[in-house]
Amino acid sequence: MNADADVADTSGSTGRLLLAQAPAGLSLVQDLLNTASMPVFSIPDLLEDATTAQNWLEVSLGTWSRQTGRPPLRITIHPADLAPLRDLRRQVRSWVSDEGEDRAPHPLAASVSFGNGHLTYGPSGDGAPAVTSLVLIEALLASHTGALSRLKTCLNPACGAAFYDLSRNSTRIWHDVKTCKNVMNLRASRARRRESTTG
Ligand SMILES: [Zn+2]
Repeated sequence: MNADADVADTSGSTGRLLLAQAPAGLSLVQDLLNTASMPVFSIPDLLEDATTAQNWLEVSLGTWSRQTGRPPLRITIHPADLAPLRDLRRQVRSWVSDEGEDRAPHPLAASVSFGNGHLTYGPSGDGAPAVTSLVLIEALLASHTGALSRLKTCLNPACGAAFYDLSRNSTRIWHDVKTCKNVMNLRASRARRRESTTG
């Protein structure tokens, strides 16, 4: 692991995959992507029920607060927030993996304050609109620094883990070489063998 990497809390969505966090608040976007289920590793979807979603958000906002130096935020997730959050996750995933179609703009529920020589931002309201606003603001800020282009999803279609690529030329495509790269190589070589025996 790179010395600069921010080691994730293993009770969080990114930490359960033993991945490092994306930096400077982008961790929230990465954490949202990593709430998805991965049947291949028997990992459940954290946005299937309000309790696991709330636990996820608390760990993730703790990371966000630590990374951005902002006071901890409290956002409550109700059952009605789950579908919009899963939809947001789908949109962010397709966009990060370059398969995104153009979408209608998202209205934001957020505020920006001036104080102590700094501009600070934060979500207004609660539930899915507040989470959506904060996720999109972090994605926007990261798109300006170039960090967003280093947030990637694993090329193994049965995995899709979101990782932050710290490689020099930003060439990493697997969340974990030992599992996903080897699995995909094995599958490709079996397919080649099948082709050569049938062809
Ligand atoms: Zn993977």
